[in-house]
Amino acid sequence: MPGSRFLRRSEVHANSSVSTLSELNLILVGPPGAGKGTQAARLQEDFAIAYIATGDILREAVSEGTELGQKAKEYMDNGDLVPDEVIIGVIIERVEAEDAQDGFLLDGFPRSKGQAEALEQALGRLDRKLTAVLFIDVPEEEIVKRLSGRRVCQENGHVYNVHSDPPEQDGVCDQDGSKLVQRDDDREETVRKRLGVYDKQTAQLVPFYENEGLLHRFDGTRGPGEVHDHIRKTLSTLKLEDQL
Ligand SMILES: [Zn+2]
Repeated sequence: MPGSRFLRRSEVHANSSVSTLSELNLILVGPPGAGKGTQAARLQEDFAIAYIATGDILREAVSEGTELGQKAKEYMDNGDLVPDEVIIGVIIERVEAEDAQDGFLLDGFPRSKGQAEALEQALGRLDRKLTAVLFIDVPEEEIVKRLSGRRVCQENGHVYNVHSDPPEQDGVCDQDGSKLVQRDDDREETVRKRLGVYDKQTAQLVPFYENEGLLHRFDGTRGPGEVHDHIRKTLSTLKLEDQL
């Protein structure tokens, strides 16, 4: 005879099966310039999941003065890195919000194997787990081309790319005629430095999530529409498998 504890537990699951089984708890991994923001916006619409950009929610928590936000602010004010447990605390608060009950898309965290493990434990305490890790893979040279080709207009921040989306006249904004400049962040040297940091992160995360059977790789050299289709198909299959 099965113990009543097990019965009760399965009842709890049966009652909430619609939301728990179809949850899409996702992590987005990819180099700067891979188009993660674009994909995130589309997936948010497709699957009605909450987009959790770590940098944004940290700033939000700070400006709202939540308990964790105040903690984070102390570190930031001292010029220190916000410790993992504080960041994870802020993420978990967000994961527990109403709009994240069907799932979430986490961007910008974790950045190391240790953070990945800590996040899994924190989600486990909520009886939730990751559904998939979406890895948008783009070779370094392509990223350098994309980012170092960016030009921004000084007046209104209109964005161009000298390779893929050039203005009609070199160095001049089509829309307001103001001068186009390259931001310091987009200089080739800076881009390569950022990619170096990113490589160290993925070198830890990719094998970790591959080993857990969660990693799904997408060819980020394809156009945004094609990448989106591929991700959506993969996620729909995952949801179906989960419901069987
Ligand atoms: Zn402009």
